[in-house]
Amino acid sequence: MLTFTNRTALVTGAGRGIGKAIAENLARHGVTVICVSKSAESCGSTAAAIVAAGGKAKAMAVDVADGSGVAKAAEALLAEFPAIDILVNNAGITKDGLLFRMSEADWNDVLSTNLTSCFHWTKHLARPMTRARWGRIVNITSVSGIMGNAGQANYSAAKAGMIGLTKTLAREFAGRSVTVNAVAPGFIKTDMTAEFVNNPEVSAKILEVVPLKRFGEAADIAHMTAFLCSEEANYITGQVFAVDGGMAM
Ligand code: NAP
Repeated sequence: MLTFTNRTALVTGAGRGIGKAIAENLARHGVTVICVSKSAESCGSTAAAIVAAGGKAKAMAVDVADGSGVAKAAEALLAEFPAIDILVNNAGITKDGLLFRMSEADWNDVLSTNLTSCFHWTKHLARPMTRARWGRIVNITSVSGIMGNAGQANYSAAKAGMIGLTKTLAREFAGRSVTVNAVAPGFIKTDMTAEFVNNPEVSAKILEVVPLKRFGEAADIAHMTAFLCSEEANYITGQVFAVDGGMAM
């Protein structure tokens, strides 16, 4: 069991997939979890599942791509909770296409949902962490941000941007014992990848480049994330941990 002393976490994209697994896993460790997603139904169902299992959770529907919406939500939450000690920036979308066919709208949507959202949440939630001299920020990036991936110029740029942001904020906040790390999933079975995973030809092609020869589970990302949020990870900052079956070796 990892050590968490009376901590509260905010997890974005907690309605489904990896974010849901992260939220539920933190809650199992006794962390109070604020579950954020775009739809109220989605984050509400995760929070309800946590409470039904004996944990503590609150749901909040916020469009993370909307900076003023994030500011309002953060203000309300900081007034309600004595502290938000842990921030997991996990919400993300893909809008794939080769560069020549990629619209500016698809570029902007992916950048604002995956990357600019991290800027907004961190700006609002990190200041109280630095004052408290304890905090954990985990950004869920991707192997696409490390290796690049044809057809994902917008997504790879956003995810690589999250890595630069992680390393810079790790340096800015280190003196206040706020750690900032990134987790880079490979191919994980969620709604985001269902179209590839459920297509035998496409999935066989993908698995050729995965040394462990299988897709990952959302729980694999949740375990790494919980560790980085725990007391046990207190000497780790500015790092990117690939959880990808060996893809980005
Ligand atoms: P998913 O199953 O599609 O779930 C995405 C979650 O993000 C949903 O809860 C969704 O909210 C939320 N979200 C999307 N746009 C949002 C917005 N504008 N505002 C608030 N919430 C928003 O995705 P996933 O596979 O779990 O991916 C989670 C993260 O891991 C993403 O950042 C993704 O890029 C990254 N990742 C995934 C993989 C993979 O193989 N699955 C690989 C590498 C990296 P609703 O539920 O309300 O729609």
